[in-house]
Amino acid sequence: MREIVVVGGGPAGLLSAIEARKYDVDVLVLESKNEIGKTEHCAGLLSINGLKKIGLEKLPLDIIQNKEIIGAKIFSARGSELIVEKKSHHALVVNRSKFNKYLASIAHDLGIEINTNSRVKKIQRNSENVELILGKHSKRNKIMTKISILAEGRFPKLNSQVGLPYPNDIIFASQFIINGVKDLDKRYVELYQISEYAPGFFGWIIPINDEIAKVGIGSRYRPAKRYLRNFIFSDLLKKRFHSFKILKEMSGAIPLGSFIRRSYTDNILVVGDAAGQTKPTTGGGVILGGIAARIAGEIAAKAVIEGNYTKSFLKQYEKRWKKEFARNLLIMKLVRHYLDSLDDKEIDDLVKMLNKQKYQKIFTSKGDVDNQQAIVWKLLTKLELWPFLIKTGLKFTFKKKKW
Ligand SMILES: Cc1cc2nc3c(=O)[nH]c(=O)nc-3n(C[C@H](O)[C@H](O)[C@H](O)COP(=O)(O)OP(=O)(O)OC[C@H]3O[C@@H](n4cnc5c(N)ncnc54)[C@H](O)[C@@H]3O)c2cc1C
Repeated sequence: MREIVVVGGGPAGLLSAIEARKYDVDVLVLESKNEIGKTEHCAGLLSINGLKKIGLEKLPLDIIQNKEIIGAKIFSARGSELIVEKKSHHALVVNRSKFNKYLASIAHDLGIEINTNSRVKKIQRNSENVELILGKHSKRNKIMTKISILAEGRFPKLNSQVGLPYPNDIIFASQFIINGVKDLDKRYVELYQISEYAPGFFGWIIPINDEIAKVGIGSRYRPAKRYLRNFIFSDLLKKRFHSFKILKEMSGAIPLGSFIRRSYTDNILVVGDAAGQTKPTTGGGVILGGIAARIAGEIAAKAVIEGNYTKSFLKQYEKRWKKEFARNLLIMKLVRHYLDSLDDKEIDDLVKMLNKQKYQKIFTSKGDVDNQQAIVWKLLTKLELWPFLIKTGLKFTFKKKKW
């Protein structure tokens, strides 16, 4: 009988295991792939503040691909540009595969057992314990535990087996790492709010150095890779992709901040993408999922120490993570859907309107990659934006949702 078993060796699973182990309890992590960090379906853009919040302010240098990011350039389909920047570096680009491996090495040093090749196929609870049934490549057929933290990522299979919901608002994404991108500025990520190439989301260029970048799009429709190719060869970008080489291709999906209605039940907690703990505006999930994961690890360890695995005890996990960021997610979701409701001309008008000195000051002082509600509230106090917001807001309210 194990004390805590974490299902999933991504950042959410590993961070919850690391936190739980600090309380000197027994923790086992089960990962379905044959290696931690095997696939890298992520752009790896992480805020420095966020990393501090999840206890990772000092990452090893070989994980970091770019540490010079100070802001973002946001483009409309018509080429208008809005720069949102801070005075100093505030985000890092990391190699997500190495990042996961680093978390696994911390876990290993703390004495956490990690079993790869261990897919959990089935989960069932009896009155006191959890039984995990493993797939055919696993060392064991079944494992019993007192409490299980489910961190399966974007398409969780186990949530519903224990009567919990799963995130259902999903964006499909495709990303290439490309060598030979012209005119890169290592200090800025580029975001393209263009419905034709990224319906329901946006396109991005995230520089690794002066020539290599992660270029991707998110889309409501599949295949995302086709949208990405169209994006690269669009009139707006084709000059910058004159002669280039794709070094790596990846695809994935992002739950768009529709966090699940309930993330706990008797003997079970759900964390990370599996709980929909991602930012609806950008899809980023490492930091928010990481914050929730640390809370989950702490609560799971306390449950073991107190011998109380009931949902009434575990409820505090959900209370705490919701207090940390649920309101922010709800506001960001509204912003995401509002932006999606605008056509290319309206996006262009908005970008032009915000590209003024006084708004730059707001972005510099209130900008926070992980918590964007402060900017929204401040912009709403600007009366000159109201005619545009009322006109487009009315359309947004009464228009049939596209997805
Ligand atoms: C193209 C793209 C770009 C992104 N860019 C960013 C970004 O720049 N910044 C950011 O913060 N976020 C980004 N994200 C989101 C980020 O990748 C996720 O939010 C993050 O990886 C979620 O971590 P997780 O641990 O919850 O899930 P995952 O990273 O998906 O890990 C889940 C793990 O569980 C394992 N697993 C699944 N089921 C089982 C099972 N039944 N048994 C055992 N193991 C199992 C999987 O193999 C996997 O290793 C991006 C996502 C995509 C698709």
